[in-house]
Amino acid sequence: MLLFYKLFYCGKRCGYPGENYFFKFCISFLTILVYYNGKLFVFRGDGKMNLDILFGNVLEIIKDELSSLSFSTWFEELKLVNLKENMATLQVPMEIHKTQLTHYYYETIKKAFQQVTGEDVELEFLLEKEIKEKQEQSLKIEEEQKIKEDVDNNVFQIKSNLKSIYTFDNFVVGNSNKFAQAAALSVAENPGKMYNPLFLYGNSGLGKTHLMHAIGNYIVEHSNKKVLYVRSDQFISDFINTNKKDDEGTNYNYVEFFKNKYRNIDVLIIDDIQFLGGANKTQQEFFHTFNTLHDDSKQIIISSDRSPEDLKLLEERLRTRFSWGLTVNIYPPDFALRMEILRKKIIAGNFEQDIPEDVIEYVASNIGSDVRQLEGAITRLVAYSTIMGSAPITLELAIDALPNFVNKGLCEKNDIARIQKIVAEFFQINVEDIRSKKRSANIAFPRQVAMYLCRTMTSESFPKIGIEFGGKDHTTIMYSVEKIENEMKENKDLANIIEKLKKDIG
Ligand code: ADP
Ligand code: MG
Repeated sequence: MLLFYKLFYCGKRCGYPGENYFFKFCISFLTILVYYNGKLFVFRGDGKMNLDILFGNVLEIIKDELSSLSFSTWFEELKLVNLKENMATLQVPMEIHKTQLTHYYYETIKKAFQQVTGEDVELEFLLEKEIKEKQEQSLKIEEEQKIKEDVDNNVFQIKSNLKSIYTFDNFVVGNSNKFAQAAALSVAENPGKMYNPLFLYGNSGLGKTHLMHAIGNYIVEHSNKKVLYVRSDQFISDFINTNKKDDEGTNYNYVEFFKNKYRNIDVLIIDDIQFLGGANKTQQEFFHTFNTLHDDSKQIIISSDRSPEDLKLLEERLRTRFSWGLTVNIYPPDFALRMEILRKKIIAGNFEQDIPEDVIEYVASNIGSDVRQLEGAITRLVAYSTIMGSAPITLELAIDALPNFVNKGLCEKNDIARIQKIVAEFFQINVEDIRSKKRSANIAFPRQVAMYLCRTMTSESFPKIGIEFGGKDHTTIMYSVEKIENEMKENKDLANIIEKLKKDIG
């Protein structure tokens, strides 16, 4: 027999302020007691049954029906992780629990749930990693649904994507970047008028992205112009979406969404344009977007890791247009600028301890160019000192803390070129062939292996890897990675080869 007692009954009552407070208190601790078979079960929480407590009650019932050995073997480590739409998801520690529970205990558990919740529930048994995968999957579906709803409702609001932390104020100027900074500032002050497009190029980590955001932030602050910052791979995926069809088989909304996003703006900032190479249709679309904005005197700002002439995978007509305005190279910082950047970053970091000059010098003289690496060195130094019980940051500590960071350029250790070289050597083919478009099997296969390794052992994106492998489209890379992954599962020899290559790459 079931007996429900609500300890507190919250009715619709008006009362004195003191009384209201009392009722709020009651709601938050709404407690239900269930009396069953001589046992008293407790549910409490914000009106919702707490899953742990609920499952504790289910287990109590099951325990009574089984030997203690069976119970401890199969039930002790079970966890109720979800109970929705009459489906209880139970986390099991091992695969064997699934078989055992499904075959021998399904009805027992179901009955116990019935008694506690009054509902008929079905059960699923999953391992922890399966539960995580399921959760990620449903998050993805939710996100996609959200984009679709936005597109359907045409609720596109211009999101500038600007990061407010990147400003002109915190951009340290020196010989190597003063021209780029000055050009960026004059574009920020006169968008669409002076230099259009502004094309910034230089190696990774020299401040291109920083400067572009700084321009955007400045314009937003000083005018009511609409600014959009995107990386070129975002442009590619937005464009790919315009080929999507909705339920009625039209793609009108996606096209509108795209046009609205890229045409209804005053300033387009497009970062890392080199990723556009290889995607031909997208290049054509970018060409139209560029022309429309440019004809309307809307400012365009582009960055790249190489000069317009070296963007070999881009159509000639695009490269020509990029040179219409002002092209500026950012060079690696010299020693004085590296020192200055480090000093500024240390002040901005507001660390508990001072970092002495000789340590700053040590870092500045060992890290050649990438400002990102300078920042990383400081972060590592401070973390190291904290781990060592707030040890004073001295030159000795710095040498200990940054043994392979400094000089070797850890970030560059696993770059695409290096992986290509190691794979080419292993398969006894030329690196140039790996980077080419040649299709013969003795080259195509090693190339796929190299693509797989680049994807798994570097943080490079699919488009970037595509560029470095003969200008392949990013879908080709995705396909190759998947293919190698699948083949490895079936072909032990291949799995061993990959293992060996991974060891060589380190
Ligand atoms: P890029 O886009 O050229 O690869 P980023 O703009 O992302 O480089 O810069 C990498 C990091 O270095 C960022 O955190 C940026 O703020 C910092 N940085 C680069 N140059 C400077 C500079 N001159 N002053 C201050 N910070 C800088
Ligand atoms: Mg960048």
